[in-house]
Amino acid sequence: MRLDDVLYSQGFGTRRVCAGLIEQGHVRLGPQVCTDPAAELDVADPALRFTVQGVAWAWHERAYLMLHKPAGTECSHRPGAWPSVYTLLPVPLRQRPTPGKVPGVQAVGRLDQDTTGLLLLSDDGAFIHRMNAPRRHVPKVYEVTTRHPLDERQLQRLQAGVVLDDDPRPVRAFAAEALAEHHLRLTLTEGKYHQVKRMVAAVGNRVEGLHRSRIGQLALPDDLAPGQWRWLNAGDLALLA
Ligand code: URA
Repeated sequence: MRLDDVLYSQGFGTRRVCAGLIEQGHVRLGPQVCTDPAAELDVADPALRFTVQGVAWAWHERAYLMLHKPAGTECSHRPGAWPSVYTLLPVPLRQRPTPGKVPGVQAVGRLDQDTTGLLLLSDDGAFIHRMNAPRRHVPKVYEVTTRHPLDERQLQRLQAGVVLDDDPRPVRAFAAEALAEHHLRLTLTEGKYHQVKRMVAAVGNRVEGLHRSRIGQLALPDDLAPGQWRWLNAGDLALLA
C-alpha cells in the first residue's frame, strides 16, 4: 500500500494532508525519513512501524482498544458537562476512516460519567454489535460500593430479578456477591440504561461508586492507569470471542 494511503487509512487526515506530512519530512520508516508519498509499504508485515511527527505507529486494519475510563468523563462525542472519553485518545484514532458514516473508534456501550473502569472501543461495527447483542449475553462485571451495608436479602433479590421502571419483565444479575459490607461484585449480561444503579436502588440500597472490572473473560489490567488506553492484542480478542 502507498505510504500516503497507509497514513490516510490510519486517520492522519485527508490524502492531501497525509501527502503533505510525508513531503515535509514528518514521516519516518524505521530510522529513515521518507518524503515519497508513493513509497510502497507491506501492511501485511507485522513488523511494519512508522513514525509520524515523532510518534511511532503500527498499521491496524481495524482498531480494537481498551481504555481505563476515569471518573468525570462522558462516553459521548457531544458531551454535556464533562469531557468526552474520546479526548483521551490520539487524534488519528478519532478520525480514522470507517466503513460506516461516523469516523473514528466508537465506545462499545456506555458507562456513566461517574463510572470508572474497562471501556472497549472499536471502528468495527460488527464487533461492537457482537459485544452489545443482548442474545450473546456477554457478562460484564462491576465492582459496586454501596451506601448501606449489604445483606443476604438484597443479594438474593438481585439474583432472583427486580422490576425496573421501564420494563415489566424482571432483570436479574447473573451473579451478586458481597465482598465486604459495602462492596458488591455484580455480573450482568444485559446493558440497560443505568442498570446497576437502578437494580441496587430497587433492592433498597444506593450506589456510591461503580467500576467495571471485566467484560467477558477480559479483565482491566492492573497496569492500565485511569485515562490510559492500549490496543487489544490477539490474546485479548480471543478472550472476547
Ligand atoms: N450501570 C450503571 O448504572 N451505570 C454504568 O455506568 C454502567 C452500568
